[in-house]
Amino acid sequence: MIRTGAPAGARSAPGGQGRLPAPGAGTGAVHLMGAKGAGMQGLETALEWLGYEVSGCDLSSGGHDPRHAKGAVALVRSSAIPPDHPEVIAAARAGLAVMTRAEALGQLLRGRDEITVGIAGSHGKTTITGLTGAGAEAAGLDPLVLVGGRVSRWDGYARTGAGPAVVEADEYDRSFLQLDPALALVSSVEAEHLDTYGSLEAIESAFAEFAGRAAGRLGCVWCADDPGARRIGQLVQERYGAGEAMSYGLAGDAWCRAMPVEPGATDLLRIKWSEGEVSLRSLLPGRHNRQNIAGAFAVLLRLGADPEAAAAGLGGFGGADRRLQTLGRLRHVTIVDDYAHHPTEVAASLAALRETRPGARLTVVFQPHLYTRTTALAGDFGRELEAGADEALVLPVFGAREPPLLGVTSSLISKAAGPSVRTCDRTEALDVVRGAAAGGEHLVVFMGAGDVTDLAREAAAAAAEIEGSGRGPADDSACPDAERRTGACRAHVGA
Ligand SMILES: [Zn+2]
Repeated sequence: MIRTGAPAGARSAPGGQGRLPAPGAGTGAVHLMGAKGAGMQGLETALEWLGYEVSGCDLSSGGHDPRHAKGAVALVRSSAIPPDHPEVIAAARAGLAVMTRAEALGQLLRGRDEITVGIAGSHGKTTITGLTGAGAEAAGLDPLVLVGGRVSRWDGYARTGAGPAVVEADEYDRSFLQLDPALALVSSVEAEHLDTYGSLEAIESAFAEFAGRAAGRLGCVWCADDPGARRIGQLVQERYGAGEAMSYGLAGDAWCRAMPVEPGATDLLRIKWSEGEVSLRSLLPGRHNRQNIAGAFAVLLRLGADPEAAAAGLGGFGGADRRLQTLGRLRHVTIVDDYAHHPTEVAASLAALRETRPGARLTVVFQPHLYTRTTALAGDFGRELEAGADEALVLPVFGAREPPLLGVTSSLISKAAGPSVRTCDRTEALDVVRGAAAGGEHLVVFMGAGDVTDLAREAAAAAAEIEGSGRGPADDSACPDAERRTGACRAHVGA
């Protein structure tokens, strides 16, 4: 194939990384492999905004072919695509710069004149990134935001802007170590992604390295309520000095602390820090979201944002899609879509739903994500599903990037719990929604990181059809504010 004008050093060295060419050089497109993934879509938006021509392909639409990247100047692969994939090999042989999504993002951000804020942690990254972006936007900082969930106000996975970059920093595959954050947030550190790291010690070491990079600049912000994040914060303080790491959360000793103004009115929050306090009304339910708001606010303080403006921005953020997102209603049934795929996240999401609708029956349709995670955490999943919901239906395991593991099925989870947790297939799950319509107030949440979201949308569409045929428009269409409809619209999930 013919390539022209590629810069020296664009070729991928063995074991090294290719370099993104300068934007707008007219040398060909940056080809994104796995372009439909959340992280890739945000990267695409940022690349196009910077003047790159972008092409892409995805397994879910047309599959892959070694000819896809022909004529491109670089190939960026998602972490789901192995380095020895035929399309990647063909691109490298043709002389394209070949790199992972994380490498491309790191290079893109280093090429800007503005600082990078990296939002890391086992849980809550997407919501905190979205919140911080919304707060920075309201405070006039004009941020570039890259977030792992779709945010309706930005019509996608990124907000473009010339100010500081606020990016979700993923620990999977050590991706976040490609970033150079001037300000690092660590929300929680748990034994996740053991396939990459092998041990909790190795995970903590990677987080400490990530957070330490911000030392001497704007420092590290860590969640005081999470033992893992606390260890990282203390490590950074020991290594670089007490002023390099500040805590946030609900704990009484946190530097930046969020609390409900009065018990029962949980959406009205007061945020206190060493030099002041503000109040805000949040659209996001639950204890974990109060922590997320405190974290985003702490970052915004470190960025020098006006506290009142930042608080107004945080209060207006309705959440990213699939984070307790209300999809529709059928009579007394509310259908919710949620991304929780770790026992801690399952517990937090179920608790948040209980908090917003204390009297409603709560059914969860849970889809385990990854065979390795299911086998490692089946007991914890079973316990949290049993404790958090009135009834749990467990779909077959969604393998994503993994081949099946012998003997690892969703019944590992149901067997670890009582009779309220049982396995089901997709048809049974949809039947539950239809059956529930005959009863009283009922929340049905479809939960998981896999394609369970499609099932949730199917259920919502079926509900709209039933509702539309007999009873006029569904309640969901009555919400006047599209932003509120994502996340936790008070009119729907809320009381
Ligand atoms: Zn392809």
